[in-house]
Amino acid sequence: MDPKLRISFYTAVKLLWSVLETLYEIAYYLLKNMESLKWEALLFYLFYLFGKRSGMKMFKRFLTAHFPYLADENEDWRRWATNQIELLGGRKWQPTKLYGRTKQLKRLDRKSSTTLSNLSQGAEAPERLFNMNKILIATDDGHGMETAGKRTPQFADGTYMKENEFNRAVIDKLNVHLKRNNFDVIHVSAGDTDVPLKTRTDLANNKIPNGFGRKADAIISVHANAAGSTWNSKVKGIEIYYRAGSKEGKKLAQDVQEYLVKGTPLINRGLKTDNLHITRESKMPAILIEGGFMDNPDEAILLMSDAYREECAEEITRGLCQYFGRTYIEVTPPAPPLPVGVNAVSIVIGSNDPYSGLLINGSSWVPAKEVLTVLGVKTWMFQKKSIYIGESSVETKIINNTSYIKSVDLVSLGILKGVFFDPNVVNTKRVLLFPKEAV
Ligand SMILES: [Zn+2]
Repeated sequence: MDPKLRISFYTAVKLLWSVLETLYEIAYYLLKNMESLKWEALLFYLFYLFGKRSGMKMFKRFLTAHFPYLADENEDWRRWATNQIELLGGRKWQPTKLYGRTKQLKRLDRKSSTTLSNLSQGAEAPERLFNMNKILIATDDGHGMETAGKRTPQFADGTYMKENEFNRAVIDKLNVHLKRNNFDVIHVSAGDTDVPLKTRTDLANNKIPNGFGRKADAIISVHANAAGSTWNSKVKGIEIYYRAGSKEGKKLAQDVQEYLVKGTPLINRGLKTDNLHITRESKMPAILIEGGFMDNPDEAILLMSDAYREECAEEITRGLCQYFGRTYIEVTPPAPPLPVGVNAVSIVIGSNDPYSGLLINGSSWVPAKEVLTVLGVKTWMFQKKSIYIGESSVETKIINNTSYIKSVDLVSLGILKGVFFDPNVVNTKRVLLFPKEAV
């Protein structure tokens, strides 16, 4: 083929691909937002989409001229756009691709398997891709453990609580809830010393490299309040500070306060502004939470309780999720207790992750549905509280809404070659199942 022709053929393919890809992304966005589509968000998204395409850089240039921080492609630009789309009511834009522009042709086979039906199935892969660029929350527990004066008045027994005991406990729990909710977290006041305030905001701003290569998207500082140094029942409630004039700071404060007053017994003292280092020097929405009064005897008791600290951490996370337009992921409730004489045991089949089985009177019972599925048994059903495999019914126990069958019955039916208790442990914690055919 004439080399010139080949280049123009390649260019044509590239152009055609680019058009298809844009249409694909629009279709993807529409499907993703079908239930809650707002036209402003769609319009913004289209602008964004065209703005980021090569050859259509005008829009982007216009925006980066007005918002200089968008200049460093790609992450800031994308995060900003995503936030805007979410604020407008659209679901977050999830990039449908990870790979760079230069590898266009490699993309063909991956994309050619994309159909409308797997597009609408929540698209797992893009979710994972988006996680590479999580929202980063800076958390701050206020003071050092030994910071002078920051404590409750003395209780009758001569003890007191240091403010940082509360702050730290809430922040530690908050960090866990945030990570559980797929946020990235930077604790800017880690350790027992009173980290200088400037260090905290420098870390959040990534002026001191914080290990994430970017500034945080929000900073949360947790404190306990005090009106004086003696007990005072008149002062009470939760208040949140934000930087005067910061629209986003105020919105974040509103969202967090909404959940804190809903979820805790404390009253709402409202939102306040003050000239505080944390809210003033942070280059992102910043709030300082005063989670109750240390010098109010009733609130001091709460501030010392693990349950109240846990509640605060959870409600702050809910507020952050709301602010960033995410659905809060509930804590998975602990498994209900097992009946007396029934013990949990791990069921190991080949290299699969262990299944949760039971040990009753020295026999192992396996969760029927999971195990029959992994063993490739297709002819089974659940009828009249019993499991049937082929024609034969097998002894079935239903415990906490799961049906279990005995592993030895699977041997009798010729599905398993053998069942062994883990030979390495004295008290059996594992049961090894050997299938007829490897799974
Ligand atoms: Zn404080």
